[in-house]
Amino acid sequence: MTALEKRIKALIAQTGPMSVADYMASCLFDPQDGYYTTREPFGTAGDFTTAPEINQMFGELVAVWIYSAWQAQDRPLPVSLVEIGPGRGTLMKDVTRTLRRLDAQLAAQAQFILIEASPRLRDVQARTLADGGIDFTWHDSLEALVEAPAFIIGNEIFDALPVRQFVKASGAWRERCVGPGDNDQLQFVLGPGTIDGTLLPADAALASDGAIFEHAPARNAMMTAISAHIRAHGGAGLFFDYGHLEPGLGDTLQAVRQHKPEGVFDHPGLADLTSHVDFRALAEAAKCQGLETAVMRQGDFLLAMGLLERAGRLGANAGDDARAAVTSAVERLAGPGAMGHLFKVLSVFPPHKVVHPFAGAH
Ligand code: SAH
Repeated sequence: MTALEKRIKALIAQTGPMSVADYMASCLFDPQDGYYTTREPFGTAGDFTTAPEINQMFGELVAVWIYSAWQAQDRPLPVSLVEIGPGRGTLMKDVTRTLRRLDAQLAAQAQFILIEASPRLRDVQARTLADGGIDFTWHDSLEALVEAPAFIIGNEIFDALPVRQFVKASGAWRERCVGPGDNDQLQFVLGPGTIDGTLLPADAALASDGAIFEHAPARNAMMTAISAHIRAHGGAGLFFDYGHLEPGLGDTLQAVRQHKPEGVFDHPGLADLTSHVDFRALAEAAKCQGLETAVMRQGDFLLAMGLLERAGRLGANAGDDARAAVTSAVERLAGPGAMGHLFKVLSVFPPHKVVHPFAGAH
């Protein structure tokens, strides 16, 4: 039994079942035993590999996009360039290196900000970014942003924010909670709470008992904060994650450890816990703040931004092994059977400021 599991069981014994969102928050961010606070999640030696960790081309194309969105708003200065949940700092490293080449003045004058909840990962990020010649500031939340246009990026941040689950039982929707089970195991139990019916998708009424609906107020709150800033001060946002374009029913909570899926109660605090992102809900939160939004598949975005051309140039200067690695990275990042279709990218803009490749997308 993990140290965190012991403490969660003790807490449940004292105060009763906890919501799936509280369980997720505790597994990921418990200060003593949480996954992001204590573990090294990323790369082959870790538990999962993210797009920026696959290849530098991902960050380079994100930098080109930031640059074009900044130009489309008449090159505002001062400006903040912000990443939420930077992990090891690899994406920001590739973004800043590329931005310096694109526009030395922008790289020199922008304020680079990293929003990171895990003190341990802040240290890792500081090491990754140490010799790039750029000063970074770390904050806990977006509230610390100064009153300037902000171009905000994030990769696999929303899937890590806690999600609540509701389950249909005897015809009614009840909150799904984590409680004590047989053999001293944690298990899902029905909680007393229910959900405001207006939040349910259209097919909820016809669903049979056992159907599950996921609702993520923490994700909506973060998108609302991002959007309120961009509406008030300018800027844009670009967020990659895995999830669905249309809201629907289904249990997508999943645990991953050492690159393999496992049960969500197998190793609390030692496994990554995520759930699929409802892109429609995030886009609605941004629209409510007066922004324009567009979503597309990660593969389509990267191809439209010039992934193949960039890969061709990297490959042309490389030996056989390195060229094969670039080809394989293209497939992993953009291939339909890899990340290209499952991963989506949501972009948010002030009115009439939509840039390529989102013009015409919804
Ligand atoms: N973007 C990185 C890491 C993704 S993992 C990559 O693609 O490799 C999720 C990251 O978000 C971690 O750095 C985690 O510590 C951070 N995180 C999770 N919840 C957060 C929150 N509420 N505020 C800021 N950072 C958060």
